[in-house]
Amino acid sequence: MFDSLSAQPADKILALMAAYRADPRDSKVDLGVGVYKDASGNTPVMRAVKEAERRILADQSSKAYTGLAGDPAFSDAMIDLVLADSVQRNRVAAIATPGGTGAIRQALELIRMAAPKATIWLSNPTWPNHPSIIKYLGMKMGEYRYFDENTRKVDFDGMMEDLKAVPQGDVVLLHGCCHNPTGANLTTAQMEQVIALLKERDVTPFVDIAYQGFGDGLEEDSVATRAIAGAFDNALIAASCSKNFGIYRERTGILMAITKDTDQAGITQQNLNFLNRQNYSFPPDHGARVVTTILTDPDLRQDWEAELEETRNGMLALRQQLADELKRLTNSEDFNFIAEHRGMFSRLGISTEAVESIRENDGIYMVGDSRINIAGLNKNTVPLLAKAIIRATS
Ligand code: PMP
Repeated sequence: MFDSLSAQPADKILALMAAYRADPRDSKVDLGVGVYKDASGNTPVMRAVKEAERRILADQSSKAYTGLAGDPAFSDAMIDLVLADSVQRNRVAAIATPGGTGAIRQALELIRMAAPKATIWLSNPTWPNHPSIIKYLGMKMGEYRYFDENTRKVDFDGMMEDLKAVPQGDVVLLHGCCHNPTGANLTTAQMEQVIALLKERDVTPFVDIAYQGFGDGLEEDSVATRAIAGAFDNALIAASCSKNFGIYRERTGILMAITKDTDQAGITQQNLNFLNRQNYSFPPDHGARVVTTILTDPDLRQDWEAELEETRNGMLALRQQLADELKRLTNSEDFNFIAEHRGMFSRLGISTEAVESIRENDGIYMVGDSRINIAGLNKNTVPLLAKAIIRATS
């Protein structure tokens, strides 16, 4: 039976990781995969996570199933973290999911059930898993302009022009903060214009928020998502705990559906539970329990927020150092956008040939579209990258 299977295209980022591992050079630098790394190149278990796990290990008396939606305390804690009081709690239906990817998958399946003909509109570019899952589910997708390759900022006029043409009843996927892969984000005022437009056109927003706390702060990074939650009768929000809690492999995420009233919330909740049941039954619990423990214990929460802030400030300092170094080398402000971008990534906007030349000559690995993971750098490798960029592009 498996004779009929054909090969799948290799995941570009995973292929890049393999090439990096095979590179014998000691000086090699990995700016590929989207995992936070500290100055020594490690992805540490956060202090609060270690302590929460210690407590869970000591206190947990049963590993019986939770509920189909996961532990309600996890939903409450995450709804509070992401949405705060932007929407009444009884209008939110939510399920725990395996990571943010699981939340995206379940959101798309819910859309398919509720509006099978809807097209999902994605920013160009976006995280490659978005189109890949949509295609796999047999759903329709379209693109709206997002990134201006010249300024390396958001092409806001182009974006608005494209969104104006989105038909009523379709879905627009927006990144809540820290756009992946570009690092370029809308201002709050621009997001307000997008919200007004989508409302006017009766288009449903679908927010993917995978980096809350990695941009400007936990509160600042949730402004757009909260504004959307507060403005629409219906919206979908997929949140990941992988990055901000550093629990990538625990697969912890949540899908929140904003509904128009309590009755609709109840029915939507049933549909979300049903989707969990069909796809994997009960969602994973360990990571969710770690997150709940941290968010509901004032001391753990404070320590988590402090460590997250250190992480964020470290990335902001590396951004500034790289922008300064490139300013010094080019005598221009052409690379200032790196300091303005937010989150773990920046798209440099250099050619594929330059990306390859930097990989071969300098052993610095970035994704083919010139996305760099800022957290893959440290104080010593920033000048090497700056020099390599200049060499490969001039
Ligand atoms: N959305 C975006 C934009 C991402 O970058 C990621 C992680 N690469 C995710 C969602 C999902 O992450 P995870 O499934 O690991 O929680």
